[in-house]
Amino acid sequence: MRRYNKDLLEAKNITKTYSTAGGPVPVLENVNLTLQPGGAVSIMGPSGSGKSTLLYILGVLESPTSGTVTLEGDNPFSFDEARQAAFRNKRIGFLFQDHCLLPQCSVLENVLTPALVDGAPDAATRARAEALIEQVGLRERMHHRPGELSGGEKQRAALARALIREPLLLLCDEPTGNLDQRSAATVADLLLDLHTRRKNMLVVVTHSAELAGRFPERLEMHGQTLRRR
Ligand code: ADP
Ligand code: MG
Repeated sequence: MRRYNKDLLEAKNITKTYSTAGGPVPVLENVNLTLQPGGAVSIMGPSGSGKSTLLYILGVLESPTSGTVTLEGDNPFSFDEARQAAFRNKRIGFLFQDHCLLPQCSVLENVLTPALVDGAPDAATRARAEALIEQVGLRERMHHRPGELSGGEKQRAALARALIREPLLLLCDEPTGNLDQRSAATVADLLLDLHTRRKNMLVVVTHSAELAGRFPERLEMHGQTLRRR
């Protein structure tokens, strides 16, 4: 039965230990995170402290060793793989440090890629893609390939792609990590501006204190758990 929680995203007592040939690698211990509808949080922390691992667990790309994640009352880790994939595709958007755009496809085609699971994009989907591309300032680059774009432009295209299915939750892993200061500022502005307009939930892992400081809620990884900054 479907249960609705007041809190849209809730991670409870998340523990993660990777099993490796060299033995168990404990990474997360008792991590708790709650995000309200429309909420936004930044996560900082040293390299290797488990930020990406936590983001992958929130995004259902990696399962926790123990603990639960619920989004709108659903626990995706109780689903089989096919349902998990559908859940991820419908409700979660990702933006990584590397843009991961398909080099042989135009900006428009890249932005439409996540929508292809529903079949060939219809007119409304194409119009949404074009509007998003315009919002990230790439109207003039719509039919260009990634190789013809600057680093900041590629990341803006990746942001438009992450939003094409209007995800409830947008997860970003060091989204400005590969950019020069000016492009990083543009991407950060867009990220926050689109979040305000769309009222989705936003979790951003970043090394940039400047970007992290712009979030209403600021957390950091400390000793395998999360605390307020
Ligand atoms: P961060 O994003 O904060 O840099 P990560 O979540 O990538 O940290 O990694 C946290 C720790 O977990 C590191 O010590 C890393 O080596 C280890 N780790 C990450 N992924 C794996 C994996 N698939 N298998 C084993 N260990 C891993
Ligand atoms: Mg990382």
